[in-house]
Amino acid sequence: MYSVFSTAAYTTHVSERLRSAELDPNLTRAFAETFISRWDCYPLQVENGTYTQVREKLTLTHIFKHLTNARLGYKPFTIGAYALNEQSQAKWVCFDADALHQWAELWRLAWSLQEVGVPTYLEPSRRGGHLWLFTPLLSGTEIRQFSRKLLVMEKIAEYGDDKKRRIEIYPKQDVLGEGAGSFVRLPLGVHMKTGQVYHFVDLDGKPIAPSVREQLKVLGQPSRVSSDFIATILAQELELPTPPPKPSPKFKKRKPRHNEPLSESLKHAISVHDFVSRYVALNEQGRGLCPFHDDHEKSFAVNKQRNYWHCFAGCLTTDGNKGGSIIDFWMKWRETHGQDGSFTETVKELREMLLS
Ligand SMILES: [Zn+2]
Repeated sequence: MYSVFSTAAYTTHVSERLRSAELDPNLTRAFAETFISRWDCYPLQVENGTYTQVREKLTLTHIFKHLTNARLGYKPFTIGAYALNEQSQAKWVCFDADALHQWAELWRLAWSLQEVGVPTYLEPSRRGGHLWLFTPLLSGTEIRQFSRKLLVMEKIAEYGDDKKRRIEIYPKQDVLGEGAGSFVRLPLGVHMKTGQVYHFVDLDGKPIAPSVREQLKVLGQPSRVSSDFIATILAQELELPTPPPKPSPKFKKRKPRHNEPLSESLKHAISVHDFVSRYVALNEQGRGLCPFHDDHEKSFAVNKQRNYWHCFAGCLTTDGNKGGSIIDFWMKWRETHGQDGSFTETVKELREMLLS
């Protein structure tokens, strides 16, 4: 018997070494077509577990490396899949639960959907899992409305009593700003932290196919949710929960100096220490838990004299630097909170927060 919540059952059941010769390029291509929405850039996982955006063409070779590198004993090469394409359209939605009881709720949703003949795909992971629904191409707005309505109908709370998000929905944005938006780890790679491959399972918790190769085959031709079903759900008049307001501590606003570039005015308006300490609890030495990775070591530091922040575990700024200004901090903060982390949008918000 498989216990629904024993991740060991999923991960040890399918044990195989995937030799490169076994991986048919057609399988890789079909798998990529299912998950990849854009090919002009991709998120790549770096050593500390966070992702950095690589602004180069994504190719099947990258997908291949994602699927095989770690299994062949090479350095893992793990990439993410952006949820929206350049036109802000999506062909899948991924519900993400990172705790077991929320994962149980998604599992319940999958059962309910199966009862009405709607196909879903379950991908358990370390503490929770992903529930995937593959759809015809939809706008980000439609697919998010559809997904949020499904949660309401199944009585799954998107936000907890503490106003924190319980279930994350990818795509996180209706429409792309300047950045590439949210992404999910491309399935069937090796999880950097646990070294495990998480397989897709059916509603009884059994792998949907006995090998990675067979799973690729299934995922390369996924059953899609019908347009009719999506239209039916979209037509439901339901009240969607409003996102809790962003914590917006009031800053003392400064007047920008005459003829000064906006980014300079912002940097002069407040020190990195004073700004960052509103969002990260810093000790006397200016150290705290890094808000950009799963930190237990107080890896995050603000250098008061030199007026910059830095993460000793290796988190990089959006531009790939090792530390930065309040603008870099806020870009990254916005990005990690599912907002547009582009320079333009970030500076716009900072100007409202800090300048009079
Ligand atoms: Zn960090």
